[in-house]
Amino acid sequence: MGSTNEGYLVIGDISGFTAYFAQTELEHSQEVLAELLELILDHFQPVLTLAKLEGDAVFAHAPGERLTRGEMLVELLEATYVAFRDKVTRIVHRTTCECNACRAIPMLDLKFMVHYGGYILQDVLGSRELVGSDVNLLHRLTKNHIVEETGWKAYTLFTEAALKQMEIEPGEMHAQVEEYEHLGQVQVYALNLRERYKELTEERRVFISPEEAEIQLTFQFSQPPPVVWDWLTDPRKRTLYGQGAIWSTASKVRGRTGKGARNHCAHGKDELSVETILDWRPFDYYTFENITHAGHESWMDFLSTYSLEALPNGQGTRVLSTMKFKQQTMISRIAVGTGLLKMIMGKMLQKPMDQMEMLMKEASDQQPSSMESSAAIAAPSGA
Ligand SMILES: [Zn+2]
Repeated sequence: MGSTNEGYLVIGDISGFTAYFAQTELEHSQEVLAELLELILDHFQPVLTLAKLEGDAVFAHAPGERLTRGEMLVELLEATYVAFRDKVTRIVHRTTCECNACRAIPMLDLKFMVHYGGYILQDVLGSRELVGSDVNLLHRLTKNHIVEETGWKAYTLFTEAALKQMEIEPGEMHAQVEEYEHLGQVQVYALNLRERYKELTEERRVFISPEEAEIQLTFQFSQPPPVVWDWLTDPRKRTLYGQGAIWSTASKVRGRTGKGARNHCAHGKDELSVETILDWRPFDYYTFENITHAGHESWMDFLSTYSLEALPNGQGTRVLSTMKFKQQTMISRIAVGTGLLKMIMGKMLQKPMDQMEMLMKEASDQQPSSMESSAAIAAPSGA
């Protein structure tokens, strides 16, 4: 017996180690793999539930309703990839051993498979197993022809069902058809993770530092950064705590939220704010420009950065909001200089932020804890 669910099914699969190492080499490769699997689990944790560790791969899932902004999943996987690459680089730097396994570390890479569909959670001898034809499909997808077709070393593969659920247009994504016995043809799409890594780490940063900010405010929340990020940026959620402001997505770039994407905010009588994203680094910080179109001249146009910092011991997230005004008028200078503007903005933002914390906590209390345990990673056996 089991319960039927619908949701995201995700595999993170580490590639690059061969099964044919000699015994001592195998131990070194197992140590590195355990470290990397743990990193993947840590990053999945706030959003995905571990289903099973499968050798070099992590299989996880999330009920569809947990991710109201589906794009969040792509951001989570990309943030995980950035951390993975940085970790591999650090391991390479600290490793002096020259066995075959250790020499292969720089070749390690990661691929993700994402599908959306039905599954049954079945209790088998005390442990929970996911079963169903969509679970089978996801596992079949780990054997595909993306590398042959593209030459990519690391990628995220999506099924059509996954993209549809996430509300992401495939646009310029690599598209191909895979064929499996008994399953027939499966249309898949893929993104190059090495390229995304470059974009996420090398692109010019736009960041209003506390030094150049005219106003800075801090807020504290009880949930981890990916969850707080989602609540801060999802237009549907923002409308829930926006104190009458109605947020909507105006435009995206390559089907995604990122540099150049726009949100609209309708508030008050005939007032519309246009928010343009200038920098987008999930779940670290984002910077945007806010321009208000009102019936009258507005001097309230500003640039702002929201940066998120995890509090120690999983106690939540601290958010620093910095703001810099675009027009340097006499009034704005006085308002900044006297601290009046900080007081007004602080008051304006505190209410929605309190409301957001309340709704976010309510939502998280209703969900079962995402990761049951990451203690499942066994330490390398032998000595
Ligand atoms: Zn070694």
